[in-house]
This record gives sequence, C-alpha cells and structure tokens, in this order.
Amino acid sequence: DNALKFAKLKSDFAATVSHEIRTPLNGVVGTLDILMAAEQPPKQRQFVQIAWDSAQYLLDLINNILDFSRLEAGRVDIERTEFDAARLVEDVLELVSPQSLQKGIDIGYLMSPSVPPRLKGDPRRLRQVLINLMGNAIKFSDSGEVEVAVLLVQGQDDSVTLRFEVIDTGIGVDAAEQARIFDSFTQADTSTTRRHAGSGLGLAICKQLVLLMGGEIGVISTLGHGARFWFAVPLTVPDTRTVFEPVMPTWPGLRALVVDESDIAR
Ligand code: ADP
Repeated sequence: DNALKFAKLKSDFAATVSHEIRTPLNGVVGTLDILMAAEQPPKQRQFVQIAWDSAQYLLDLINNILDFSRLEAGRVDIERTEFDAARLVEDVLELVSPQSLQKGIDIGYLMSPSVPPRLKGDPRRLRQVLINLMGNAIKFSDSGEVEVAVLLVQGQDDSVTLRFEVIDTGIGVDAAEQARIFDSFTQADTSTTRRHAGSGLGLAICKQLVLLMGGEIGVISTLGHGARFWFAVPLTVPDTRTVFEPVMPTWPGLRALVVDESDIAR
C-alpha cells in the first residue's frame, strides 16, 4: 500500500511540476514569436531561430511529461461526445501539413465508405493519438508518403469498432523493438548520435489513451521498409435511425484521367 501511495505521489508531483513549468515557458515562446516576426540582422535571426526551436522542443517534452504523469496518476477521464470522423482526420492532416511540406512528404487519407459519418467517443483523445502517430511517421521518413486509413472492423447496432492506420515509407521498426517502443522512455535507437530527437513518451501516451478508450494499439513493420502503426477503438453511433447510405459517386459514361505523382492523392 505504501509503495502504491508513493508511486501515486510521484506521478502527482510530476504532473504538478510540469504544469507549473509550462506557464513561464509559454511566456518565453510568446516573446520569441514576437522577436521572430521583427526585422533583424541575419546573425541575430539565426540565434532567435535556435532559441525558438529549443523552446518549442522543451514545450513538447513538458506537455508529454504532463500528459504521461496525469495518465499514470489516473487523472485522465475519457469523454463521450459526438464528432465527425472525416473532419477529425482532416483536422489532424492540416495540423501536421507544415511538417510534411518541409520534408517533401505527401500526406493523405482514405476512409472506408462504411464508416458512419457521425460517431460518439472522445474526439480529443483520438486526435491526440493520431497527431502523435502522424508526427512520428513524418519524423521517421525521409521521403515518400504517409497515409491514414480509417476502416470499420466491426459493427453491430449502435456499437462499432473503428481501426485507424498510419502507414509510412520510413525507416521501420525491427521485430525486437516493436514490443518495447510502446513502453515509457523507450526509443529504438538509443545511441547518443541518433538523428531523431524525442522523449520516448509519445507512444507510451498513445497506448495509455487507447487502453483507456477500451481499444488496442500495435505496429506492423519490417526494418527499412516503413511502418504501419494502428489502433482500434470501440465507438458508438449516436443515431442509428437515420439509415446511413455510403456516398459513392457514380458518373455514368464519364471518362476521367487522374494525374498526380502521389499514390495517396490519386
Ligand atoms: P519519441 O518522442 O522518441 O519519438 P515515441 O514514443 O513516439 O518517442 O517513439 C518511440 C520510438 O519508437 C522512437 O524513438 C522510434 O525509435 C520508434 N518509432 C516510433 N514511430 C516510428 C515510425 N513511424 N517509424 C520508425 N520508428 C518509429
């Protein structure tokens, strides 16, 4: 009992401290934002850019520690509100698009026509998991594309299970690491010269959130051949009376030529 009490105290402490640290850090980021927008000689601009990047990174790190310790302390509740599945995915893609644009990686999504448009669950948490997986997919890919697929795996009356997949063309994860990377503070590449910064908390947070929602999470990958991170969560359909007809456009007799260099966009 004492051990449990102290474990909880530790998580509470981490949650409180990281929350307190965020406030002044927001002040630092805000001021750097203003500096970035101002005219400056190139050398100064370079220094401000470094300070801004570091502050953003620190903020991400603290947000992760805060989330993780709140989850550990059992302070996270799952909501049940209505949301639009396509809208949710599109919002996430829009959010990560600057990152993908910068790296020249195409992003897009495919939603199975059988996914009900309105669903009930915790859109904020689903978004958080998707943002994390998308962020990683872009971070660990040097070229190619990242695809989000949304599929209905099971559905009966008003309960459905939705499966989200984030498929990338990046470095991949080998079999031994696949089981470990969902633990806290773990990274596949632990060398001090590793190319990708991170806390090793992102996937641990994703796993905890998905478990809280009653779902499952995993990865399918071969080292060097990209990764497919997936999670499946049970959701409810708020209104089963309105029969949902998948919208499949039919253009009889129309001949079309679709041209795009990206598979996912085509
Ligand atoms: P980090 O903040 O270090 O990225 P995560 O928990 O998000 O922490 O990821 C843990 C580790 O899992 C990463 O350091 C990386 O080694 C591996 N990983 C996560 N996503 C991918 C991906 N899409 N492709 C290859 N490796 C990945």
